[in-house]
Amino acid sequence: MRDNKTDHSKKSPIKRAMITLTCIMEDCTNEQYCRGLCRPCYRAATKQVAAGRTTWRELEQKGLCLKTGRGYSAFTKRIKGIRE
Ligand SMILES: [Zn+2]
Repeated sequence: MRDNKTDHSKKSPIKRAMITLTCIMEDCTNEQYCRGLCRPCYRAATKQVAAGRTTWRELEQKGLCLKTGRGYSAFTKRIKGIRE
């Protein structure tokens, strides 16, 4: 979900750099990669799901990951100020 086609003619070139989101895990300060998690956390979660120990839905409900798929996650909406 990289936005490489940023319009550089717009006024605030600095703003982009400030929107680096960190992993939603409390003790983790890595940059977000997918579902609100950083790469290591996401990989760990994927393993658990693949092993049948949990499901993405369960993780979502527990607040251990964000929803993915179409549109923005609630978290992204917050950050970007997008209204539902
Ligand atoms: Zn993490």
